[in-house]
Amino acid sequence: MSLEPASAADVATVSRQLGRPARDVVGIAARCVCGAPTVVSTKPRLTDGTPFPTFYYLTHPAATAAVSTLEAEGEMPGMAAMLVDEVADEYRAAHESYIADREAFGVVEEISGISAGGMPDRVKCLHALVGHALAAGPGVNPIGDLALERAAWSPTVCECIPLAEAPSVAEAAPLAEAPSVAEAAPVAEALEASEQ
Ligand SMILES: [Zn+2]
Repeated sequence: MSLEPASAADVATVSRQLGRPARDVVGIAARCVCGAPTVVSTKPRLTDGTPFPTFYYLTHPAATAAVSTLEAEGEMPGMAAMLVDEVADEYRAAHESYIADREAFGVVEEISGISAGGMPDRVKCLHALVGHALAAGPGVNPIGDLALERAAWSPTVCECIPLAEAPSVAEAAPLAEAPSVAEAAPVAEALEASEQ
């Protein structure tokens, strides 16, 4: 894990990317070639108490759009079918590494053993897997690497919106529209909803 501290400018950029104020940021896990954040790391428990499993959150609008296209094109079942033998082992190791990275910022009981994106044995959210691949670098998350390779976006080609054209973030709103685990839904369901 090579997490860079987030500057005030980084947090402002991430807030613009998300269209809401970024909260509880612990660092920037990956950047565009221009230096803009592409993946943000968030505290495993938000200040309001909500457990937040998605430690590596893909924020860059062009990246999230490209990954949404992959999902819409039906890439996930084929990727899930690749989870046998060594790839399955690597994917499980990626899951463990993801949790270890997050737990360096606190162990949250409600999300113990839970990573993101469907790891360790399913493929449910390519945004989370690409976020991990960008943060960890090549060779850690085999499905994230593959999705990044197939996506029509790359961190080496800047597609950032110039500041002046970006929408500004008006007012305070929660980081994730994730339902809080405390209220109602079983943890697993709430976590699915929180995965972008
Ligand atoms: Zn850029």
